[in-house]
Amino acid sequence: MNKKQFNIKQLVRGNVANLKPYASARDEYVSDGSKMIFLDANENPFENGVNRYPDPQQRSLKAVLAAQKNVGVHNILLGNGSDEVLDLLFRAFCEPKVDTIITLPPTYGMYNVLSNINNIEEHEVLLTESFQPDVSAILKAITTNTKLIFLCSPNNPTGNSFSEERVLQILDAFSGLVIIDEAYIDFSSKESWIKKIKSYPNLVVTQTLSKAYGLAGIRLGVCYASEEIIAVLNKIKPPYNVNELTQKSALKRVSNQNIVQHEVSKIKAERDVLAKALAQLPFVMYIYESDANFILAKVDDANKRYDQLLQKGIVIRNRSTQPLCENTLRFTVGTEIENNKLIKVLKQL
Ligand SMILES: *Cc1c(COP(=O)(O)O)cnc(C)c1O
Repeated sequence: MNKKQFNIKQLVRGNVANLKPYASARDEYVSDGSKMIFLDANENPFENGVNRYPDPQQRSLKAVLAAQKNVGVHNILLGNGSDEVLDLLFRAFCEPKVDTIITLPPTYGMYNVLSNINNIEEHEVLLTESFQPDVSAILKAITTNTKLIFLCSPNNPTGNSFSEERVLQILDAFSGLVIIDEAYIDFSSKESWIKKIKSYPNLVVTQTLSKAYGLAGIRLGVCYASEEIIAVLNKIKPPYNVNELTQKSALKRVSNQNIVQHEVSKIKAERDVLAKALAQLPFVMYIYESDANFILAKVDDANKRYDQLLQKGIVIRNRSTQPLCENTLRFTVGTEIENNKLIKVLKQL
């Protein structure tokens, strides 16, 4: 969509467009850093590091992310994991029992769960045999009520990235929002779509600190989009959705890119070792190319191999119930020691 054709007012739910958001004490008075006495939020005044409400706009963290990703702070929304960001997109743009979304299985299970929770019909358009978006089928599935299309790239559980050309075709043709879930982008050699949010007003990119950044436990998801879209999401987000401890650990980690990059390159190197080892096993039929920190493998009998590994104390994911994924197992890349143990056990089966 180009900017002239795109109209966010036609996308936002009526109740969201009309509502007046909660004004928190910490929103009303914005500190300039000078020493003030805070008697505005009914907090306990005895300092312990977390006795104050957190910054509802997470300004320190957003400032670092904005500089790193070369976007404005008003192009960023932070959530309690990207799962919260995805849920906010449903709640802001999809009218229950009326609007619909499109997903491309086999893909991340939360899109389906969130559509059920929000009572939004989900149209599934299978990926092609090579796990790419089937653009003509997607365009055919679009109706006037289609609000969101979810593209997961690199895709979970297949591990591959989507072709740039196919994504552009969808972005150009669809007047609703195209959400590109980049949970695994840091393991990929492909560029992020963030740089395209300026040219595509209907593009939303989500990322997370749960995978490459090693902070699944703190729950921090990031959404990059036009200021208009971010403003709508900001209106409905819980005021203090990102807690103080999360903001502090996230800030420390994103400011320490050396460590993150070091761990990511180790994981990528281990991914190659693991892929080669898996390919040599007699019961492994096929290894799919991965741009992520996991490998999908087609095996002779996924249930049997899954159970065998479990008995040896190794937990992987059986993805066989997903369409196009019959007899597939998904292996997360672990440490060198963990992967060696896995390979040793697999060789003995
Ligand atoms: C793991 C994962 C996420 C991460 O969600 P968080 O809530 O940020 O932990 C998002 N999308 C996909 C496709 C994932 O695999």
